[in-house]
Amino acid sequence: MAQKVVIVGAGYAGIRVMQRLSGCRDVEVTLVDQHPYHYLQTEAYALIAQQATLSDVTVDVPALCASYPQTVFVKAKVTGADFDARYVRTDKGEIPYDYLVLAMGSRTYFPQTVPGLKTYSHGVKSLQRAFEFRQKFERELFERMGSEGDGECRNFAVVVAGAGLSGVEIAAEMADYTRRFLRKNRMLCDGVEIVLIASHHELLSGMHPYLQRQAKDRLEALGVNIVFGSRVASVDAVSVTLENGQRIKFDFMIFAGGTVASTLTRKLPLERNERGQISVTSEARVKGRENVFAVGDVAQLTTAEGKRLPATANGAEKSAELAAENILRSVRGLPLLRRTIRLEGFMVALGRYNAAVLLFDRIRFGGLAGGVMKRLITDRYKYLLDSRAYKTFRRLKRF
Ligand SMILES: Cc1cc2nc3c(=O)[nH]c(=O)nc-3n(C[C@H](O)[C@H](O)[C@H](O)COP(=O)(O)OP(=O)(O)OC[C@H]3O[C@@H](n4cnc5c(N)ncnc54)[C@H](O)[C@@H]3O)c2cc1C
Repeated sequence: MAQKVVIVGAGYAGIRVMQRLSGCRDVEVTLVDQHPYHYLQTEAYALIAQQATLSDVTVDVPALCASYPQTVFVKAKVTGADFDARYVRTDKGEIPYDYLVLAMGSRTYFPQTVPGLKTYSHGVKSLQRAFEFRQKFERELFERMGSEGDGECRNFAVVVAGAGLSGVEIAAEMADYTRRFLRKNRMLCDGVEIVLIASHHELLSGMHPYLQRQAKDRLEALGVNIVFGSRVASVDAVSVTLENGQRIKFDFMIFAGGTVASTLTRKLPLERNERGQISVTSEARVKGRENVFAVGDVAQLTTAEGKRLPATANGAEKSAELAAENILRSVRGLPLLRRTIRLEGFMVALGRYNAAVLLFDRIRFGGLAGGVMKRLITDRYKYLLDSRAYKTFRRLKRF
């Protein structure tokens, strides 16, 4: 009899597990997500800077799942799990499993010790938050256009706090977008200032020096004002105060200073690190639970030397592939594979058609070539998913 595999989360990791398992006769797959779309989080920067539309950053998951045999999608929020009785609890009822894959991703972490941070700044890890920011930002631009000639038109500022991958990408894309916007729409007076706050004395801390250098040069060329070496101490409706006492006024603030694993992990009796990530073995199994796997941002992925891997879509997919392979091996009574996750590379988007690329720690290039490569990889990823989902639409005659 086919074994029931339940996957929680239709992000990069959950979708990849589903793709690898669906169609194998030994398993029936149920993919559960609170949203009916797969959000291409790596494109969040393009969405908020008006470079991508909603449909560019989402894939229809029910239609995608319907294109795979023995696969169903359930739109539900998972609220807990009973690992002994083998079922997950959701807001729509219980779903039993033989194998469970936890792939709930992570969310923006707003430290409570920083007054005003959560109230006055935006996160972009969820589509809803990113979309809300985009709308507010566009409305602001529009209102500035309307204020032309009334003598009150003034510069406005966007503060991005956090200079990791997402903060750098957002700052670069917003600077690039507003620069091009202002070139075409001169009625905006002084323009838009983008300020990036980095808590370290470098950007992309912990990443390869080549990527750090490329990011710094590009952001400076785009006119981004980078404040190094200070953390956010407090935020109010109009300004952010840093630990060094500096106060920076803003019209919008984005916080990209850290992430923690999905809140669901708190409700599960599993070993976790201080960021809420679940401890996993080199087989992608949850420690102490034979038939439960954790993949992507929700899991603590480490290198062979035990160093933590940064949370990336690439890491999510690699861990997902290992989990899928091991579920099939377990079902078939074969020994499981043990593997450390190796990232193939990094691509840091630095504005439209510009990216710094580092592959296999050796091959590196930036500028237009990097931008084109990142675009091609993202477009291919999206195209393959969309085209499968579209086949379902046609079959169901929704078009
Ligand atoms: C602005 C930005 C730029 C980035 N740029 C890059 C980049 O250039 N390259 C790169 O590799 N990575 C990048 N990343 C990181 C990358 O997006 C993440 O590492 C990746 O999304 C992790 O995939 P995941 O599948 O683990 O989780 P996610 O993609 O977050 O998916 C988790 C899924 O689980 C669902 N879920 C969560 N809780 C529940 C629940 N209780 N019940 C049901 N469903 C639930 C969510 O709805 C979601 O669909 C970027 C991130 C951001 C924010």
